[in-house]
Amino acid sequence: MKYIGAHVSAAGGVENAPVNAHAIGAKAFALFTKNQKQWFAPPLTDDNIRKFKENCEKYGFSPAYILPHDSYLINLGNPEKGPLEQSRKSFLDEMRRCELLGLTLLNFHPGAHLQKMDEESCLKQIAESVNIVLSKTKGVAAIIENTAGQGSSVGYRFEHLRHIIDLVEDKSRTGVCLDTCHTYTAGYDIKSPEGYELVMKAFDEVVGFKYLRAMHLNDSKKDLATRVDRHDSLGKGLLGEDIFRCIMNDPRMDDIPLILETPDETLWKEEIVWLYGLNINYE
Ligand SMILES: [Zn+2]
Ligand SMILES: [Zn+2]
Repeated sequence: MKYIGAHVSAAGGVENAPVNAHAIGAKAFALFTKNQKQWFAPPLTDDNIRKFKENCEKYGFSPAYILPHDSYLINLGNPEKGPLEQSRKSFLDEMRRCELLGLTLLNFHPGAHLQKMDEESCLKQIAESVNIVLSKTKGVAAIIENTAGQGSSVGYRFEHLRHIIDLVEDKSRTGVCLDTCHTYTAGYDIKSPEGYELVMKAFDEVVGFKYLRAMHLNDSKKDLATRVDRHDSLGKGLLGEDIFRCIMNDPRMDDIPLILETPDETLWKEEIVWLYGLNINYE
């Protein structure tokens, strides 16, 4: 079964995210558990936590289909000691917020070397950051998102994701979130059904589908291998329809959160209906 949703607003409190997800007909959702533009936020209250769990239960969202996303400020591969420490502290705080909410996944962008370190050292630093944070928490997995490779970001090659996983001590608590827009602009031609099969075969060989824990479904404003991260609404960008039909009919994407991060939230409801309509077995 496919669990499709969107990255919904948690304005006014995390407990509002499941309500917003339900309103667009989602079966999964993503959220920020705090303001994504700040390093730290006031702790979640007992009231927030209780209402979040109640609303998830009420609308049928189990933790397996909820994909919290960390703050954009965090760079777990930062080459400088001070900012690296700050990032690790903030990521630990994010992971503890997930623990309190009873969630099991935390999606993060691996990091960037800022031209002050080579990619290999940056990937090593990221894995070390993940190890530190996992050793201080329980039950939440660190889900590495592949990137478009914009600027000095690492994580745009499947080999990068594999390298981080190889260095993470507790492999049961890590995995990958593949973003369709990032995959394409990073240089993987997933546009046609043939291209899709080849790219997924390469993903399986390098990373392995057992590590695929989530996906972000976005169209792209930018072309293949441009290494620029600009999402578009489904069917409005350069990716076209085939790739989404392939995903919707690919059992390897069953039972994981499939999250829209498309720019026009007024279209989310339609986009979800459209996606389910591509699934030939959907009733
Ligand atoms: Zn994404
Ligand atoms: Zn993106």
